[in-house]
Amino acid sequence: MAVPYKHEPFTDFSVEQNRQVFQAALTDVQSKLGQEYPLVIGTQRVTTEEKIISRNPANKAEIVGMVSKATKQWADKAMEAALQAFETWRNEPVEARAHILFRAAAILRRRKHEFSALLVKEVGKPWKEADADTAEAIDFLEYYARQMMNLQRGIPVESRPGEHNTFHYIPLGVGLIISPFNFPLAIMAGTTVAAIVTGNTVILRPSDRAPVVAAKFVEMMEEAGLPAGVLNYLPGGEAEVGEYLVEHPKMRFISFTGSRAVGCRIYERAAIVQPGQKWLKRVIAEMGGKDAIIVDREADLELAAQSIVASAFGFSGQKCSACSRAIIVEDVYEQVLNRVVELTKQLKVGNPEEQSIFMGPVIDQASFDKIMGYIEIGKQEGRLMAGGEGDDSTGFFIQPTIFADVHPSARIMQEEIFGPVVAFTKAKDFDHALEIANHTEYGLTGAVISRNRAHLEKAREEFHVGNLYFNRGCTGAIVGYQPFGGFNMSGTDSKAGGPDYLILHMQAKTVSEAF
Ligand code: GLU
Repeated sequence: MAVPYKHEPFTDFSVEQNRQVFQAALTDVQSKLGQEYPLVIGTQRVTTEEKIISRNPANKAEIVGMVSKATKQWADKAMEAALQAFETWRNEPVEARAHILFRAAAILRRRKHEFSALLVKEVGKPWKEADADTAEAIDFLEYYARQMMNLQRGIPVESRPGEHNTFHYIPLGVGLIISPFNFPLAIMAGTTVAAIVTGNTVILRPSDRAPVVAAKFVEMMEEAGLPAGVLNYLPGGEAEVGEYLVEHPKMRFISFTGSRAVGCRIYERAAIVQPGQKWLKRVIAEMGGKDAIIVDREADLELAAQSIVASAFGFSGQKCSACSRAIIVEDVYEQVLNRVVELTKQLKVGNPEEQSIFMGPVIDQASFDKIMGYIEIGKQEGRLMAGGEGDDSTGFFIQPTIFADVHPSARIMQEEIFGPVVAFTKAKDFDHALEIANHTEYGLTGAVISRNRAHLEKAREEFHVGNLYFNRGCTGAIVGYQPFGGFNMSGTDSKAGGPDYLILHMQAKTVSEAF
C-alpha cells in the first residue's frame, strides 16, 4: 500500500539554490520553444496542416509551440480509438491503473521545474503560481490513485440469510475532457486522470490558449505506461469540433472546466439523446465565480487587506476562485480599503520570468479587451482607487484595479470579469454583509475575516458557497484538504480533489445472489 497522501510542498524561492534551479529550467524551456506537437489518437501521431499557435502572453512575439488542430474527421478517429481502448482498459486491475498515476507523479516531481517554467512561458504565471499549479497536478495523481484503490473494495451492503449482496463501481465509457487555460496543468491533469483511473478512456481537449503543456503531459502519461487509446489528445478549441464530440452518441460523459456560457451550452447539448445513443450523458461542470471576502468589524484588518490583495490579484485574478468582491462592514471600510490600495500600489507587474514579479499578463487579446471593457464600466459604477490602466503593446498587461463604493447589484459586482479587478462595497453590519455576499448567481468560494465566533458560525450555515474560508484568502484550495467546487451557476456541485469526486466518473452495480 502506498504511503499516506500528503500534498506536494511548494518550492521556497527565498532559497538561492531553488532560484538558480528554476532559472536554469526557464533557460532550458526557452531553448526548446517553437516546437510542433501532433494530435495523439490511439497509437497514431497526427500532424495536421492547420495549427494553433501558442504565444507567450507576456511577449506576444514569442511562440511557445505550434499544435496540430483537430477536425471532425480526427474527432471520429479519436472516438474509435477511445472506444476500442475502453474494452481492455475497463478490465485492467485497479492497482495497475493506479500504479501508472503513481509513476506519472514521480516523473512529474522530477521534472517539476521544467513544467512550471513552461507555465510561466505559456500562460504568464509568476514563479510561485506556476510552482503551485505543478504541485497540484502531482497531488491529483497521488490522491486519485489512492482514492481509486480504496473505492475498488466497494461499499458493504446488507445481506439476508440465503442471499449475498454486493455493491461496486464500474466505469462509464468514453469521456470528453475540456480543460481551461488558468490551471493548464493541474486542472487538465486532474480532470483527465480522475476519468482514466476509474477505468474510462478519454478525449482531451485542452484550452487552445495552453495546448503545449497538455501535449507534454500526454507524452509523460505515455512514458508512465498508459496504453495507447486511453488518453487521446485532440486540441483545437473550435466550437464546432467540441460540440460535435459533446453531441456524439457514443460519448458517455463530459468533464468541463471553463466559462459559465460554455458550460451551460454543453449541459444543454449533452442532454439531447441522439439517434443510436443508449444512455443519458453525464456532465461534470466547473464554471465561474463571483467570490467575496467579507471583513467584519472585529477582525485582523492587516490580515484582511493581505488576503484581499492575494486573492484578487494572484495570477491576475484569472481564477474562478478569485476575490472580485470585497464586502466590508462600514466601521472598518475606509481603513481596509486604504490599506488594500496601499498594498496594491506596491505590487510589481511585468514579465513573470523575473522572480520578483507578483503579477504577470492576462492570457490574450480577447481577455485583455474584455477586462478593459469592465474597467470602463467600473468607472461608471464606482470610484477608481488603483490601476485602471492596461498596455497590450508587448504583452497583455493590466494594472491591478480597485473600485470603491460599488452597489451590490452593479455589473462589476455581478458579472465574472476574470481579471485583476476587485470591487468594494460597504455593509451596514455583518448580517448585511452576508446578504450582499449571497446576492449572486454564483456560489464558488468565499471568505470571512472575523474574530467574532458567532459571526463565523452564522457564515458557516448561511454563506452559500462550495468553498468557505475563515481568516484567510479565498483561493488556493489544496487537493485532498479543501475539495474544490461550487454551488448554483458555479457548476454541478462536484468537488475536485475530494473523496467523492471519482464516483462521478463511475456507475454503481448491485449484484444479489440467492442461495
Ligand atoms: N482550485 C483553485 C483555487 O482554489 C481555483 C481553480 C480555478 O480557478 O479554476 O484557487
